[in-house]
Amino acid sequence: MSMEKPARVRFAPSPTGHMHLGSARTALYDYLLARKTGGQFVLRIEDTDFKRYVPSAEEELMNGLRWLGLDWDEGPDKGGPYGPYRQSERKEIYLKYAEQLVESGQAYYCFCSPERLSKLREEQQKQKQPPLYDGLCREIPLAEARRRAAAGEKYTIRFKTPKSGVTTVRDALRGEITVENRTIDDYILVKSDGWALYHLAAMVDDYEMKITHVIRGSEWLPSLPLHALIIRAFGWPEPEWVHLSVFLKPSGKGKMSKRESAELIKDGHSIFVKDLEALGYLPEAVVNWVALMGWSYDDHTEIFSLSDLVEKFSLDKLNPSPAAINFTKFDYFNGYYIRSLSVPELAKRVKPFLTAAGYQVDDDRLEKIVPIIQERLNTLDDSVEMAGFFFKDEVVPAGEDLVAKGLTPAESAELAEQALEIIRSLPELTVHQAEQPLRALVERSGKTPQQVFGIIRVAVTGQRVSPPLFESMEIIGKEIVIKRMENAVAVLKKLS
Ligand code: GLU
Repeated sequence: MSMEKPARVRFAPSPTGHMHLGSARTALYDYLLARKTGGQFVLRIEDTDFKRYVPSAEEELMNGLRWLGLDWDEGPDKGGPYGPYRQSERKEIYLKYAEQLVESGQAYYCFCSPERLSKLREEQQKQKQPPLYDGLCREIPLAEARRRAAAGEKYTIRFKTPKSGVTTVRDALRGEITVENRTIDDYILVKSDGWALYHLAAMVDDYEMKITHVIRGSEWLPSLPLHALIIRAFGWPEPEWVHLSVFLKPSGKGKMSKRESAELIKDGHSIFVKDLEALGYLPEAVVNWVALMGWSYDDHTEIFSLSDLVEKFSLDKLNPSPAAINFTKFDYFNGYYIRSLSVPELAKRVKPFLTAAGYQVDDDRLEKIVPIIQERLNTLDDSVEMAGFFFKDEVVPAGEDLVAKGLTPAESAELAEQALEIIRSLPELTVHQAEQPLRALVERSGKTPQQVFGIIRVAVTGQRVSPPLFESMEIIGKEIVIKRMENAVAVLKKLS
């Protein structure tokens, strides 16, 4: 354990869509910092944007975190000392704090109608002025404001941003950031329906939940001075601010658009965690890959398990430069982790893919197959194409696939028959017993191994590409191999 103080960090997603790589990375860094320092990882659901709310999103987020192995200590499902952990259940808490700011003169009731505000914005646009609230309600005496509110007038609560001076905040990756206060708007903290907006809600929650480090996307960087001002208005301790770099598209040119993200799936890629699981990527690969999109340990180490990361992670190695999403790297990591799994473990991981493809999977057989496909899999899903034939009752090779390249159907039939005779004559169909006589057939026939073994491969597996032939035949078993060879001979004879 390090000497750092235990960190309390929170992952605070809005359940508005699919969990993507950016969220996975934020959650990962949260998790790493909490585990490394012996602190807590809090899951908070920021679900007060009712228009954009997607009912299935919270569960998807939790499933995504579990799949990645990022278990949290406190959250809506687990509870904890600072709950509730869903913002939709904390409305009164935010109101209480908003009132506290109103009381101390650092926030005020604003009665401006949406019509007035949009007119104001239009006017400012025309004059090429920044779209800031003009402060009309800023100086209404509190007693009067309360009277109007009590009489039923609609109001929002705005932050009373200082109009002079500067605000300086420190971001862990970028150092000090200073802005002039007059450029900061009197932002709305509470809407007219009584719901707090992010600017207030997140600050209140981070305070109440005793968060020590706020790790979030750099899209929040422009709001940072406002957030610091709000926290300072309350007189609360400030958390350490950590704004992570943005992700760029693979070309490195700009951010990925919605359409571009959706189109990735055509190439077997995605930026959505749920898709990556379905495509047959391993969580170990996702973790390793996203860990390095914004953090590095040194200039050469690339392979990091989750526990390596817990040990090695530190905030001072985070990098503020944008990171291009590199799927080639991702595929490399996935291959690496597929090859480093034990046979029983890999069997356990590919089984759901084979089952989903409709195969009845026998576990003993699968454990025999895994060693011969392990080297060849790029994703777990590749197992369906590569090994599905092992679980089929029958294979139905296309006639033209059975005809070896450069040979006639009659010549191919002849070779298939000879191979069949050899297989029949073996006491057992093992790699050991089959290899020598079948290679001798190649020699004798004067044909190439590709031609002879190609016919057998298509006959036995039903496909042109398969795992090593002799091993495959041994697993399929003599009886079925003979049946498939007989069928192939019959098909080829019909073509002759
Ligand atoms: N709900 C915000 C989001 O999803 C959270 C940002 C934060 O971590 O504070 O962008």
